[in-house]
Amino acid sequence: MNYNSNEITNLIEQLSKLPGIGGKSAQRLAFHIIDMPLEQVEKLSDTILTTKQKVRCCKSCYTLTDQEVCPICSSESRDHHVVMVVEDTRDLLAYERTGRYNGVYHVLHGALDPSIGRGPEDIKLKELLVRLQSEDVDEVIIATNSDVAGEATAMYLSKLIKPSGIKVSRIASGVPIGGELECIDEVTLLRALEGRVEL
Ligand code: ZN
Repeated sequence: MNYNSNEITNLIEQLSKLPGIGGKSAQRLAFHIIDMPLEQVEKLSDTILTTKQKVRCCKSCYTLTDQEVCPICSSESRDHHVVMVVEDTRDLLAYERTGRYNGVYHVLHGALDPSIGRGPEDIKLKELLVRLQSEDVDEVIIATNSDVAGEATAMYLSKLIKPSGIKVSRIASGVPIGGELECIDEVTLLRALEGRVEL
């Protein structure tokens, strides 16, 4: 029996599509939203919509931003000769939280993974190569995850970039195998960065 109204059921269904939200959590959130003052709910839904509409990729590093060029790429105090390659914007944020990396980034939006059919054309790899040709870069630090896809991507990138004479390094294996960068604490991230090895 559908005890709830259709609207409530629909809201629970929509919320349960979000990652990490099971049926019970979705139900709890739905009833919480219903109890919230209308203006708070409007603010929440407006924020979700506006964020979705305004956020795009930085035209230089491809991180998610609401500007044409993100604050990191447009900053003169960053070292534009060092480019750290990460899988997604969450990894970039993890390194930014350490406050100790002063270079710029390139966000691939994924890693090479034949098991799900993700090849070089499906990530921002060509964009990186084009960028390296037009910008004066001394070092590329590959900071993809240490799982199979991340390692494969690192090897692939290194083979492509090294002939250009640009130094290519890989963050140290202090990052746990299969570990997603965003979940790793800042000390471990810093150690991985400082202990990076040239490929
Ligand atoms: Zn950028």
